[in-house]
Amino acid sequence: MANRERMAPADAAFLHMDRPSNLMVVNAVMWFDSPPDWALVRKVFQVRMVERYPRFRQRPVDTGIAVGPFGAPHWEDDDTFSIDNHLHHRALPAPGGQQELQELIADLMATPIDASKPLWHSYFIDGYGAGSAVLGSDDNPVFARMHESSALITGATLDAARAVHEGTAQHAVNLAGGLHHAMRDRASGFCVYNDPAVAIAWLLTQGVSRIAYVDIDAHHGDGVQAAFYDDPRVLTISLHESGYTLFPGTGFPTEIGGGEATGSAVNVALPAGTADGGWLRAFHAVVPPLLREFRPEIMLSQHGCDSHRLDPLADLMLTVDGQQAAHSALHDLAHEICGGRWIAVGGGGYEVVQVVPRSWTQLLAVATGGALDPSTEVPPGWREFVATRSKQPPPVLLGDGTAPSYSHWEPGEGDVDSPLDLAVAATRRAVWPLHGLDPVGRW
Ligand SMILES: [Zn+2]
Ligand SMILES: [Zn+2]
Repeated sequence: MANRERMAPADAAFLHMDRPSNLMVVNAVMWFDSPPDWALVRKVFQVRMVERYPRFRQRPVDTGIAVGPFGAPHWEDDDTFSIDNHLHHRALPAPGGQQELQELIADLMATPIDASKPLWHSYFIDGYGAGSAVLGSDDNPVFARMHESSALITGATLDAARAVHEGTAQHAVNLAGGLHHAMRDRASGFCVYNDPAVAIAWLLTQGVSRIAYVDIDAHHGDGVQAAFYDDPRVLTISLHESGYTLFPGTGFPTEIGGGEATGSAVNVALPAGTADGGWLRAFHAVVPPLLREFRPEIMLSQHGCDSHRLDPLADLMLTVDGQQAAHSALHDLAHEICGGRWIAVGGGGYEVVQVVPRSWTQLLAVATGGALDPSTEVPPGWREFVATRSKQPPPVLLGDGTAPSYSHWEPGEGDVDSPLDLAVAATRRAVWPLHGLDPVGRW
């Protein structure tokens, strides 16, 4: 009998929304400056996709048995699978410009995919300008110069780590970095190469023996955690919206590191809706005591600002002022604990007019002299730039007009009726004893 696997709920929902009047097709286009060796590209598809990931050889099956709103769809091996049914070779009509390519894409997107076969197709397209193009579907879309741009980002974080390690700079920031979901062997969650993991691995080769990684992005820093899960030299702490409600679905307090390194992975899975006060209460109940106990020689922190209340992808409710308090707290801890040796990287952030520029301006300010007054007016030149580039009214002030405060975590288990306190207590119970700390004590 063919291999079967239950379909993830998101995939099932996607499948059920797909109908002739509403085709659910994910597309990506990659182009080459000159015609590639198609036989080689075909082999790459075969080895890196079809052989490595069973999904490329599986078709969707819906048994029709009603379980929940979507029935019980699953994936099943397609015994008649042939890569030739999925790779197609086409030539663009002359003159092979943008318009001809767009017409071809529009035509393909309007054609339903045969659901009795695996749900993917790639088109090798000749005659696009002086080169060629590939059209395909994937979760992390391919894009032009994918390797070059991802490698540049990684190199910048590596340079930041080198500067701090060698003492040419006390702090260094790479706003383009923080691609914390990328795994050793695959891209994930918009991240191609994991720049924090590469920088930390390099620091280890330089003989640094205790490195702390603190991740305040709304999503779990799963790729960095995975890279050093069994390495006691690297303490990873991630505060994020719970994996029950947000990608990547991991980062629970029970993930504590493996083997010799138990206790070296720390996760605070915050309830959706957590705002400044709750977030800062959780941060201060977990991060400073662990860093003081671990005594890192150098600290790398990831400052994804998708925790903001306006961010479209996540469900946390921070303000720019709460995020600035977090940037400042990490900076102060670096000075207190590791002689100021601090590398800061960016990360997620999908509200690119109101949130990302203001939050990361504050991060740069913190790293270069001190947070700016939140009542500072946004420079008129930048406001004009925003007005010409987006339809949104630009922000007027640097801050959101809030003055975040929080109640400090006192000895004990917190408030048992508060989901936030339950989350914090779960983290402390999971890892405090492994660091010689008392989870219900002073720290
Ligand atoms: Zn994120
Ligand atoms: Zn400083």
